[in-house]
Amino acid sequence: MMLLLVAGHGAGDSGAVGGGYTEAERVRHLAARIKALGGDSVVVGNIDVNWYASGWMNRAHVPAGAQVLELHMDSAGAGARGGHVEIKQGFAPDAYDAALAEFVSWMFPGRAQKIRPRSDLKNMNDAAANGISYRLLECCFISNPGDLAKFNERTDELARGILAAFGIEAKGDGMAAPADVWGYRYGDSDNCFNALHNASREVLRTDDPSGRGMNLTTHEHVKWIAAKQADMAARLERIEALLTQSGQKPDEI
Ligand SMILES: [Zn+2]
Repeated sequence: MMLLLVAGHGAGDSGAVGGGYTEAERVRHLAARIKALGGDSVVVGNIDVNWYASGWMNRAHVPAGAQVLELHMDSAGAGARGGHVEIKQGFAPDAYDAALAEFVSWMFPGRAQKIRPRSDLKNMNDAAANGISYRLLECCFISNPGDLAKFNERTDELARGILAAFGIEAKGDGMAAPADVWGYRYGDSDNCFNALHNASREVLRTDDPSGRGMNLTTHEHVKWIAAKQADMAARLERIEALLTQSGQKPDEI
């Protein structure tokens, strides 16, 4: 699967402004971070083009099979906050839309709808007409100081959440070092998504976390340890019984 990122506005259109930032610059920065963390599965569409003004949402500019995500930030009164996903009215949300909406509404709460159907957006309508799988992400409100600060300070977390919604593993999400495994604490995860991700990663790992030369999942390792302990308990009971028969006390040996 290829994720094609389209950064909203650009080519002289700043989009919304807030806190000294422009929407066009911020979503291009976010797109660059998603690409940096997502690697080959991510393509950033030409950021020097305003795709809306240039009418680029067609097969000449979108490869077959690509999932398109258009990035925006919203603007309203300073009290409005939160992010959501917008999809073509009449379309059912797909798994990417649903995962993305869950993530962004968690990181940027405040919207009435996690997924908002639209019928008045040109790129969205063009995508539907051209058979392109498309959704638009309003990350948050650039006009809300809290949203903007979170966007700026936690850009990589936002990028990772977007990648996860599309099933793309971010760089730096590789296996933990063997020395780290047994001291692992889920409480160290900085949010519930990372906690779940780390837990599943650890259960499904197939390297050799205990250094015994066995490539197993953590679950298989735990079963191996439990079996060894059960085996050892039975042997100790037999030894104790023999010692008791011979009149010796095990604790004094
Ligand atoms: Zn916008």
